[in-house]
Parts: sequence; C-alpha cells; structure tokens
Amino acid sequence: MINGKTRICGLIGNPVEHTLSPVIHNLLAEKYSQNLVYVPFLVEDAFLEQAISGAKALNVLGCNVTVPYKSNVIPWLKELDPLAKKIGAVNTLVLTKDGYKGYNTDMPGLLRAMKSDGVAVTGKEVIILGAGGVARAVAYLMAQEQAKKIWVVNRTIEKAKEIEKEIKEQYLHCEIEAITYDNLTCLEGNGYLAIQATSVGLYPNDDEVIVEAKSFYQKLEVAYDLIFNPKETMFMKLAKKEGVRAYNGLKMLLYQGIIAYELWTKTTVCETIIDEVYMRLREEI
Ligand code: NAP
Repeated sequence: MINGKTRICGLIGNPVEHTLSPVIHNLLAEKYSQNLVYVPFLVEDAFLEQAISGAKALNVLGCNVTVPYKSNVIPWLKELDPLAKKIGAVNTLVLTKDGYKGYNTDMPGLLRAMKSDGVAVTGKEVIILGAGGVARAVAYLMAQEQAKKIWVVNRTIEKAKEIEKEIKEQYLHCEIEAITYDNLTCLEGNGYLAIQATSVGLYPNDDEVIVEAKSFYQKLEVAYDLIFNPKETMFMKLAKKEGVRAYNGLKMLLYQGIIAYELWTKTTVCETIIDEVYMRLREEI
C-alpha cells in the first residue's frame, strides 16, 4: 500500500517502455515487505542533469540508469564506486547525503549469472562479439577474472581496438586482441567461451545471427548471449546444434537488479526469492 512512508526507486533512460526492471524490484519489495515502489522515468537528453538533481530534491532512494545515459550520467554524480569509475559506466544510483553515488552492477551481475550457470572464466580463451557499451564492460570483467586471452570481434574495428587499448592500459598482463568477423576463421583449437554482446538477433529480428559458420560454433565450449528476448536466440540455437552449452542474458538482468536492490535497501536477497524473481521474469518474456 502506498502511504506517507513509501520510498521511490526508478529507471532513468530513453526508451524505458519495455523495461523488465519494475518486475524485479516491485516483486522484491513485495517479498521483503519493503514500503518501496519502482517506476520508469523517461528522460530526454536535454533534461538528464535536471532529472538527477530533481530526483535528489524529491528524495528518490535510488535509480537504475540505462541507454543512452550509462556514461553521460557520471558528471552529475557526487561519488563513484571504484568499479564504475574504472569501467566508465554507471547503471545504479544510490542516494547519499549530498547527492547520488554511482555503481556498476551489470558487470558483477554477469559474473554472478555465470557462476550460477557453472561457467568459469579464469584460464579460458574468450571471444566477445561486439564492441558497444556492454561488450566493453564484459571485456573488463574477463580481464579481471583472468581470462587466458580475450578476442574482441566487431564490425567497426576501431571500436574493438579502443577496447583493446583501454584493457591493455588497465590490466598490464592481459592478452587481448581486436579482430573483425572475417578473422574469426583464424582462431585455432577449441574450448572457447563466446559472449554475444551485439544487438543482432534481438526481438523482433529473431532469425538474425551475428555469425553463421558452423565451424565457429564447433570451436566453442560455452556460448553466452546477452540478449534475453527471445529466450533462445539464433546464436544459442546454432551453438546447441554443435553440442555447445548455451545461455541467454536473463540471469545477467536478474542479478544486476538483485545487486542494485541490495544496495538501495541494505539487505541481502536470499536464493529462494532470487529463484522466484527469475521465474517471474521468464513468464514476462
Ligand atoms: P551498443 O552499444 O549499441 O552496441 C551494439 C553492438 O552491436 C556494436 O558492437 C555494433 O557493432 C553491433 N551491431 C549492431 N548491429 C550490427 C550488425 N548488423 N552487424 C554487426 N554488428 C552489429 O549496445 P549495448 O548497449 O552494448 O547492448 C548490446 C546488447 O546487449 C543488446 O542486445 C542488449 O539487449 C544486450 N544487453 C543485455 C543486458 C542484460 O542484462 N542481459 C544488459 C544490457 C544490454 P558496430 O560497433 O560495428 O556498430
């Protein structure tokens, strides 16, 4: 019930209409009997600064931040968590005395998702498909988790090379190489972990896939698609056809939300409730 003690959390982005975050946070609030509501805030580019100062003025407890503001929001924050600072991307704001502190829960969210799926990174050769905002954060995670080598594959090679340069500067011993899709045939051996971080195959373009070659999928041990709608992407289907374990990005979405909720409410969400939220998310797609 909404009353005088109700706290507000929300999502800042553009667009926000299709977000599943309200499902996660309102269910968590219900399960933990927290007097909290989570709503979407559609923010136009020109009003980002006012949105942040207005949220503080209205005592909004916390926000998630989505495209296109994960980096642009940083100048308007009072404090940055070291991980968010390193990646240069924020997806969670937590109210403090002076303003908002920015965190990145996407990256630890993906790590928790991978752990829950039994996917290990350390010592693996990792292929990241894409070099957009999420691919960049994934490259940081793979470097931090000590992948044996990271391949960043992108249509626009300059963007992949930027990630390569950044990671080399931040993780001196990390082996990382930027290539285009044409060079994928050069990858030797097998046992690769591939992470699909492009928007190719996203609903309603379910039939599209970033790589078609059977020989690519035969080199993989695990295929992770960060897309969660559709539940099974063409990338996952082609991987499974070659006997490769394949996962979608729904658990990453789930865990980035769980970590954000834990930051806002200073609680720890138990596994039973995490499972319930995951089930609800699956029903929503
Ligand atoms: P982004 O910054 O816009 O990057 C898009 C990437 O896709 C770029 O590397 C782009 O290549 C590539 N791409 C797009 N169309 C292409 C095409 N036709 N052929 C080849 N490459 C193409 O997007 P983002 O924010 O990183 O998001 C990427 C994906 O992650 C999205 O599908 C999103 O749904 C998913 N995601 C999942 C979660 C989760 O919680 N599971 C969270 C955030 C995002 P160019 O650089 O060459 O243009």
